[in-house]
Amino acid sequence: TYVIAGGCVDVKDKACLDECPVDCIYEGPRSQYIHPDECVDCGACEPVCPVEAIYFESELPDRWSDFARANAEVFIPL
Ligand code: SF4
Repeated sequence: TYVIAGGCVDVKDKACLDECPVDCIYEGPRSQYIHPDECVDCGACEPVCPVEAIYFESELPDRWSDFARANAEVFIPL
């Protein structure tokens, strides 16, 4: 799944929302989140993010490694 990382916090540009073919990007209070079970890994959202906040899960920079869990927990409370 793709993950929205720290760059989105307090930015929420929303360019990604227009690109997602399955509408699996949801708006939260300070960031946007990708539903991990709905994302079809098409990659369309990644290049349109103006702050490059979107990564494939396994390619998240170390400093944002917690965001995979953070995205998932929005939809699947642990
Ligand atoms: Fe949506 Fe594709 Fe981005 Fe997944 S990779 S969030 S399906 S645009």
